[in-house]
Amino acid sequence: MHTINNFRHKKINDKYFVTTDHGSYCILSEDEFNQLKQDDIDENLNLKLEKKEIILNDKNINEAIRLTRNRNSFLYSGTSLHIIVVTLRCNMNCIYCHASAKSPDKKEFDMNKETAKKTVDFIFQTPSKGITIEFQGGEPLLNWDVVKFIIEYSKEKNKAEKKNMNISLVTNLTKMDEEKMNFLIENNVDACTSLDGPKELHDYNRKFIHGSSYDHVVKWVKRFNDEYKKNGIKNKRVNALVTLTRKSLEYPERIVDEYVNLGIKEVHLRFLNNLGVAKHAWNNLNYSTESYLSFWKKAVSYIEELNKQGKEINERMASIMINKINNETDPNYLDLRSPCGAAIGQLAYNFNGDIYTCDEARMLDDDLFLLGNVKKDKYKDIVSCDKACAVVSSSINDQYMCDNCAYKPYCGICPVCNYEEQDNVIGKISETDRCKIYMEQFNWVVENKFIEAENFK
Ligand code: SF4
Ligand code: SF4
Repeated sequence: MHTINNFRHKKINDKYFVTTDHGSYCILSEDEFNQLKQDDIDENLNLKLEKKEIILNDKNINEAIRLTRNRNSFLYSGTSLHIIVVTLRCNMNCIYCHASAKSPDKKEFDMNKETAKKTVDFIFQTPSKGITIEFQGGEPLLNWDVVKFIIEYSKEKNKAEKKNMNISLVTNLTKMDEEKMNFLIENNVDACTSLDGPKELHDYNRKFIHGSSYDHVVKWVKRFNDEYKKNGIKNKRVNALVTLTRKSLEYPERIVDEYVNLGIKEVHLRFLNNLGVAKHAWNNLNYSTESYLSFWKKAVSYIEELNKQGKEINERMASIMINKINNETDPNYLDLRSPCGAAIGQLAYNFNGDIYTCDEARMLDDDLFLLGNVKKDKYKDIVSCDKACAVVSSSINDQYMCDNCAYKPYCGICPVCNYEEQDNVIGKISETDRCKIYMEQFNWVVENKFIEAENFK
């Protein structure tokens, strides 16, 4: 006796990719799929479907419950990612600046030590056993004293709290020097920068009036990595993020080469967000989903070629999707899960102590996603307030379109993007570029990494 579990499917070529709510999957032939649909299942298929909990019986029901709980375990753990905007000032003029940075002389946009202390005290109220504090800006190094203060104060506080704490700094590296580098390395702070591709492209996207921003990135990525090596620090390297403008789409292979040449093992080829300065320059920067997807496929195919030659590099979105399909726990990529990371996975703290549901939320022109301020609010009240709950529920992919999509257990929707694009946090998913892009990326991953592998068995 069995019950057929709730399942969704996607036909790719002559195969059916069938998924359950808890994220297990099976690849079926046409004949097998028809057997499943008609609940007229032969013995071999019965074993295959039972193993993946697509049919449920006394033998596998507890496993299905365990897997459901595991996949959603992030719901019980508390906010782990805490993004602190120590300043909104920046010394560069990137053509897409999502943070709408202020000019370097506007010191009124710096976080002061009193607010910094209150921010750290607030962060430590999370029940999460693991926390990541990430410095963002603006350019955080323009407010170095407060960066240092937060690192020292949070480490001191953690002696009693004993959380598993990571600290990372996102910087354009133009203000890096030996003293700062040594302090960061000594305090085990990860450095992450932006690298948009080869020099001509990087400097076009990331404008710096005092010369080439690319030269600073290359110099300091190498310098940090040399220092890690010299100090015997294994498995640590400077990471980088790429932002893709219309011009970037001409460079699929060369962007990847740039990462390989600098020894960076992962490149995240994300599409451009319509936030901050990018929103106002959208007509010059944006591109169609088709152009982006064609670029992305070229780049990932090129990465596969490089992997065959023994070069270690992967594309982050493809890796996350493979990981989500293959593994029973969520890899904690907060923008691709349901509910998303807003409030329950991450919080962003502006220079004045204002608390937002996530980093992107503070980049909007209005304060719809503002939850409170570290000077007057408690963590418990912030994450359980009506607004936070409304944002969390609006990020659950239970709409009609998602509910019929085989990728639902691995995917996520973004209330901030919906609000920006459609003036509504819920949004019509079928009309969003984000859905079209994710759908096609999942199609590519399933066809190339799962169905092809099955054909070779
Ligand atoms: S957002 Fe699009 S790709 Fe993702 S689950 Fe919904 S319908 Fe599928
Ligand atoms: S609201 Fe959007 S940007 Fe913010 S965490 Fe959710 S998916 Fe990410």
